Amino acid sequence: MFRSLVTHGLAFFLLLTGPAARAVDEELPNESASNLSTLGRKPDWSELEKYQATITHDEFVHLLNDVYCSRGYNPELIKIEPDAARILTATGTQNYVVLHFAKSEADRLPLTQWWTAPSALSAPGGAGPLAGFHIALDPGHLGGTWAKMEERWFKIGEAPPVQEGDMTLRVAQLLAPRLESLGARVSFVRDKPEPITPYRPSDFEATARQFLEHAGIANPRESFDGPADPEKEHTVGWQRELLFYRNSEIRRRASLVNFRLQPDLVLALHFNAEPWGDSNHPTLTPNNHLHLLVNGAYLPPELELDDERFEMLQKLLSRAFPEELALAETIAGTMAKRTGLPPYHYKTENVTPVGTSGYVYARNLMATRLYRCPTVYLEPYVMNSRAVFVRVKAGDYEGTRRVAGKIRPSIYREYVDGVVDGLLAYFKKTRPL
Ligand SMILES: [Zn+2]
Repeated sequence: MFRSLVTHGLAFFLLLTGPAARAVDEELPNESASNLSTLGRKPDWSELEKYQATITHDEFVHLLNDVYCSRGYNPELIKIEPDAARILTATGTQNYVVLHFAKSEADRLPLTQWWTAPSALSAPGGAGPLAGFHIALDPGHLGGTWAKMEERWFKIGEAPPVQEGDMTLRVAQLLAPRLESLGARVSFVRDKPEPITPYRPSDFEATARQFLEHAGIANPRESFDGPADPEKEHTVGWQRELLFYRNSEIRRRASLVNFRLQPDLVLALHFNAEPWGDSNHPTLTPNNHLHLLVNGAYLPPELELDDERFEMLQKLLSRAFPEELALAETIAGTMAKRTGLPPYHYKTENVTPVGTSGYVYARNLMATRLYRCPTVYLEPYVMNSRAVFVRVKAGDYEGTRRVAGKIRPSIYREYVDGVVDGLLAYFKKTRPL
């Protein structure tokens, strides 16, 4: 799980609908073009109007300082006054939108959005504890024949290759019927080892070139020598693949979530890894751990991009955070119990720990940012740890077996059990009876 690069100086719209939709690399006039992330869309700031007077000054400031802009921000971008926040709509201009605060908690206007928190559902009756709740499962990455390209592939000896995108899909396929049996409605953001974006790396040739040009890489190399090539980020070949399998794919998943599925919750399913070096002779590590991510901790340069600033505000104002945090903390507890894994400690500066469990961090990942409903991103197990590799090699099985020195369920079913336990515990705590 790595963050995609952001760039300045490019603006490309990805048309999201229509059977003949293609990537349109339409360069905008400089003043706005310079302020969007790659493939980002120019924000429609009028979409924030529905949040007028829905949040108090104190709650806004708390969410800004402690969750979303916890790594600091340029005060010219968001000016906080006693009654309102002034938000710059386009970097380099003096254009602001004004968001008025509610005078008090009692004066807050109600939020209107598609998702419902369990605490706001009616009693489930006899239809199962999760009845009336819609969960979208987002199995991370692509898997299948794409696993090598997306660098979620390694192979040890004669064992079948380890492909994260196939493992996450297997978890989703096991998890769905369990959730349905508890009354939930379940959708898949991806249900096969294929991308949902219709684009391919060749569609991003020009975008990749312009990205490198704006990043100051003159005369970039065309191709790269595999995933271990230290200069791969400076090649057209690697960048256009990244634009396809990460940027375009996640944006397409977000449009599916936001405009078609409109679930109450997205569970982004991943397995973690530590750097493994040569994917044909990967380094195995004794480390194994668990963490969960929610959206937040935007970096100051990310907030300078008009689309990311807009998406941050939309996320903040939707009040997804309290829901995401409470749910992530509960699932962290049940997954820790099922897996026995300790929390992961980040060594980088791009996260902020949130909650009290020690397992949950705020981080600005594209998926957690773009999905406009509560989204919990799961990162259990280090795939290239010795113990996990043995369990992956053992595959899925029913019941328990002795694997890696212990009697236990398959790694996939243990993952599913941890998630199901967490959801059940959360609904028990918060849903009216
Ligand atoms: Zn992943």
